[in-house]
Amino acid sequence: MRRITVIGSINMDIVTHVPRLPLPGETLKGLKTAYNPGGKGANQAIAAFLAGGSVTMIGAVGEDEIGQKLLVNFQSMGLDTSNILTKKDQSGIAFITVDLSGENQIVLSEGSNAKLFKQDLLKLSEVIKTSHTILLQNEIPWETTRYLIELAHSVGIRVVLNPAPAIAMEENILRHIDVLILNETEAETITDFKVLDEPTARKAAEKLLDSGVREVIITLGEKGSLYLDQNGEYIFTSAYCVEAVDTTAAGDTFIGVFTVTSAMNLPKQDCLRFASAAAAISVTRNGAQGSIPHREEIELFLK
Ligand code: ATP
Repeated sequence: MRRITVIGSINMDIVTHVPRLPLPGETLKGLKTAYNPGGKGANQAIAAFLAGGSVTMIGAVGEDEIGQKLLVNFQSMGLDTSNILTKKDQSGIAFITVDLSGENQIVLSEGSNAKLFKQDLLKLSEVIKTSHTILLQNEIPWETTRYLIELAHSVGIRVVLNPAPAIAMEENILRHIDVLILNETEAETITDFKVLDEPTARKAAEKLLDSGVREVIITLGEKGSLYLDQNGEYIFTSAYCVEAVDTTAAGDTFIGVFTVTSAMNLPKQDCLRFASAAAAISVTRNGAQGSIPHREEIELFLK
């Protein structure tokens, strides 16, 4: 099977529900707190794995209790943790406060994710170079991500990048990216085009293709997603109509599942349909990783 290596962030999301968001300097009583494993790298790796992919996760946790919990979480899902490094640091933690209307405030303490450097990856170069695809996000140092894009491109490995959070990228790096998957806000930041709907998203996708990316997917939340490639193939996929309760990790689910199905060489239309169905299932459930469906559930949803 074509193996996908995800190199990215691993976090613990500590989510506290509050009656309202606190003011500066104010202490407020929380209603309840949950510890949810997260991080875009980890979420996308789990989505790809549950969708039936052969997946290797590379990342870094801290030498603390949370790091241990994050490793056990991967193992409980059946994912191998032998390529996850333990750093003399704290693990990545997202402190999330959510009020009764669903509005949130997030403080991200990157911890060990910010310490995943090129030198760490040299000893894992065999694992990386024997992959079919590498899947990256922007929650580890950009120098590391840029090194991985150049390395993968030089040896003919397919590069899928989810540039989240969005940063200004050197134009010459975009030429080495096979698939760029991003949401409206990220597309706006990178292209400087206002992305509001299908036509404006298509314009942003065209600009990205002009920079040398081979395939672009822009996700538009409940409006769906659009795909455009260098050959001019254009596919708009509407989102499935479901009752959304929590959209956390919808994007990560879509990306992980699309990466697996497209690595299997399925027709693009089917890959997009499968990814949209998986993301739609995830929004009907609470939480991040706990909401990501298995392959069988996606197949059942599409029947
Ligand atoms: P997040 O940051 O919440 O993980 P995102 O902003 O990266 O998400 P979105 O564009 O919101 O990504 O969603 C990705 C895909 O998930 C969409 O293209 C769509 O297929 C699906 N999706 C998102 N929201 C809904 C919804 N309310 N109903 C059905 N499908 C949805």
